[in-house]
Amino acid sequence: MTSWDEYGLNTRGVRAGQHRTAEGEHAEPIFPTSSYVFESAAQAAARFAGDEPGNIYSRFTNPTVRNFEERLAALEGGECCVATASGMSAILSTCSSLLKAGDHIVSSRAIFGSTVVLFNKYLSRYGIATDYVALTDLNAWERAIRPNTRLFFLETPSNPLTEVADITALANLAHAHDIILVVDNCFCTPALQQPLELGADVVVHSATKYIDGQGRCVGGAVVGNAQHVGEDVFGFLRTAGPTMSAFNAWVFLKGLETLALRMERHSHNARLLADWLQEQSGVTRVHYTGLASHPQHELARRQQSDFGGVLSFEVQGGQAAAWKVIDQTRFLSITANLGDSKTTITHPATTTHARLTQQERDHAGISDGLVRVAVGLEDVEDIQNDLERGLT
Ligand SMILES: *Cc1c(COP(=O)(O)O)cnc(C)c1O
Repeated sequence: MTSWDEYGLNTRGVRAGQHRTAEGEHAEPIFPTSSYVFESAAQAAARFAGDEPGNIYSRFTNPTVRNFEERLAALEGGECCVATASGMSAILSTCSSLLKAGDHIVSSRAIFGSTVVLFNKYLSRYGIATDYVALTDLNAWERAIRPNTRLFFLETPSNPLTEVADITALANLAHAHDIILVVDNCFCTPALQQPLELGADVVVHSATKYIDGQGRCVGGAVVGNAQHVGEDVFGFLRTAGPTMSAFNAWVFLKGLETLALRMERHSHNARLLADWLQEQSGVTRVHYTGLASHPQHELARRQQSDFGGVLSFEVQGGQAAAWKVIDQTRFLSITANLGDSKTTITHPATTTHARLTQQERDHAGISDGLVRVAVGLEDVEDIQNDLERGLT
């Protein structure tokens, strides 16, 4: 994998990880096989003993999955990648393999809803406690550290308010206390942000989002060094089994070939839409890292190569006004998913953040008038027209 270091991001996205077979195929093949045959009993024994590298069973390794893993590792600049059945199983595998009973997590409060449930309802049963802090408040992260804190967890930019964490500052804080920094890089993807280069130890992904890019498959990945990911996470995965299928790996693999190109257009469209939204009379606030008015705009500029496709905005008139904007659209997809070529629109207060109390939502800044848009690849003028109907 290190051999890809000298190549640019676009080249790595198209080329890394492909190992052509004797058939001379140009495109990457899919290997739909659950197990592998050995030339002899002695070879089988050597494989099982770990004395000879090679495939045994597709819960452990599969050539198509390996191709995807090597390509994503090359893009993130990581030594090792382990593909998983979903983004959530990437987070579960990371926590299950790197933590034990008695350990403590400090997490950003602004993370994916199922990740909060995983930490609060399930990891807590196994003696792993989690405390939450404001993503952008470095002092709060420091104050939350206990002697048994083992892991920092965050997403940047956050959903749906697009707050940005200083990854390098948090990595320095984490490492001073022997803590592992895990970054969920779902929103930026390695095309726009490489957390490992900024000091993070582990990157997790929901490949379901931008890596697929067309809303077809559910999958995930963990990227990091040979110990954390190559040994620990892989060891958990091959035993517990939340493995990525060969077919899904192939879809994600082909998604990586166009990832940089798509992220450029998602970002371009989102920037134009954010500028336009700022000028609409019913809109009181636009949250997008690409706007000069964004509180961490300068940090986002330093740490990301572009600003991504997700934005949110607040309309005057609370929930009724927000629902009107959503319901008056004709082609935008009303769905909480994101990272699709199709633009999606959602009302966080009554969907993704509905299980929070009103007080928790107020605290998190999720107002009743907030609308989130994950900007797709359609013509921006058409997206603007679709939103304008409900704004006037
Ligand atoms: C969707 C998402 C996940 C979970 O991924 P799945 O593939 O749905 O399991 C985790 N983190 C973020 C930021 C997400 O958007």
